[in-house]
Amino acid sequence: MTSTSIADPTAPECSAAPTLSVPAPCIDTGRVSDLIAQLLVALGENPAREGLSGTPERVASWWNTFLSPDSAATATCFAESHVNGELVVVGGMSVWSLCEHHLLPMNLQVTAGYVPAGQLLGLSKFGRIAQRHAGRLQVQERFTRQVADELASVIGSDDVAVAVRGTHLCMSMRGVRMEAARTRSLCARGRFQSDPVLSQQFLALAHPHTHPE
Ligand SMILES: [Zn+2]
Repeated sequence: MTSTSIADPTAPECSAAPTLSVPAPCIDTGRVSDLIAQLLVALGENPAREGLSGTPERVASWWNTFLSPDSAATATCFAESHVNGELVVVGGMSVWSLCEHHLLPMNLQVTAGYVPAGQLLGLSKFGRIAQRHAGRLQVQERFTRQVADELASVIGSDDVAVAVRGTHLCMSMRGVRMEAARTRSLCARGRFQSDPVLSQQFLALAHPHTHPE
């Protein structure tokens, strides 16, 4: 993770640190396991053969983990008056999600920026927020907006921007099979929309390399 400004973890926490609560998904792990076994049969496999022993349970367990990411995390803010008005950019966050159209993985590289107004958000919380919204059936554009929405809510300001570069297996291993395709999305709010200098600074830090990877 990289940042242009580092929060002081010893600074006093703000009193109004909001608790981020996302309703826990209702997952019937036993039924998911049964259905995976049925899927294997429908695909012409024998779920009882040696190599597939335990596969339905493992897959069901993974779904359970994937759909229950850290739902009780608390957002920690630190009072920091001397960084008022300075751009903070947190990048290098990589999360995995599932495309809801094909149930195939997508890797999302997330960069978030905001302008502190009297308090800083703990840096690790950016990653937790990204992980929470990745842990569901998603599309990249909605993920980008949801992360920006939650950041704005937690920080208590609309001056947030989130840039995401996605690699979608539904483009790489099916359909057009474009291995090198990357999808970029941006959600800019508040001053990141109205102030072109701030917007340029954020984009330069979010995408420092112009070469396609
Ligand atoms: Zn897809």
